[in-house]
Amino acid sequence: MLRQVAEGVLIHQSEFVQSNAVVVQGRAGVLLIDPGVTGSELDCLVNDLHESGRPVVAGFSTHPHWDHLLWHARLGEAPRYGTARCAATVRDQLSDAGAKARIAAHLLETEIAGQVPLDLLGLITGLPAETARIPWDGPHVRIIEHQAHAPGHSALLIEERGVLVAGDMLSDVLIPMLGDVNGTDDVIGDYLAALRLMEEVADDVDVIIPGHGSVGGADQVRARIDQDRAYVHALRDRRDLSDPRIGPSAKPGWEWVSDVHAGQLQRLARRSERDGTPG
Ligand SMILES: [Zn+2]
Repeated sequence: MLRQVAEGVLIHQSEFVQSNAVVVQGRAGVLLIDPGVTGSELDCLVNDLHESGRPVVAGFSTHPHWDHLLWHARLGEAPRYGTARCAATVRDQLSDAGAKARIAAHLLETEIAGQVPLDLLGLITGLPAETARIPWDGPHVRIIEHQAHAPGHSALLIEERGVLVAGDMLSDVLIPMLGDVNGTDDVIGDYLAALRLMEEVADDVDVIIPGHGSVGGADQVRARIDQDRAYVHALRDRRDLSDPRIGPSAKPGWEWVSDVHAGQLQRLARRSERDGTPG
């Protein structure tokens, strides 16, 4: 079911990790950001859009992770975009013939095994680097590209509506998940830089939509930025922290986030051992 969160902006929430698909109404149709997860949810979204009489005229994926790259044939053949770096990463991932099978195998460990349509996964076009806005006939959607969480990740600011679509950041239930800790990128620095970009636009935001979790109001914008930064600082400094998303205060059903946290700590420790550097 579509739920309006701001004028002309609706979300469709999946039961899987509380994933949010975002629908933005334009003049001739809608922009669809990170469509939902399972086949039946995508079906539901298609039906809702059909009932509203609004075709999908553009799609956008915030980052190159499978749960943000899905599509349904009945959504039609509108152009689907991502940043150039996001699209290049997806191309790389899918150039390997076993990629989809690996995603399907990974899904076998989840409650949605066999329910995710992967046929149209990742068929996105990269927008030229430095593209400021999504090219479509609707409210201006500013692309805020950064390298936190995944290569070519972008947050989207729907300027006229005061809505920030955060991708996989600024969630009330998921901690910041760093990019490839095993690689050579400065994953901590990249994350902090991305949070600074979010901070620069915070005053223009009334509604924040995370890729996973609850939609927040204006009061939540800086609170979530601060919460994510405190988490990343604690990781960087190897400090204990109290974060409501992990440990005993985690919401029921989200206890696994504490394991993600433990995993990140471990990988960072291994990395600094390997490189002899902090972080
Ligand atoms: Zn992600």
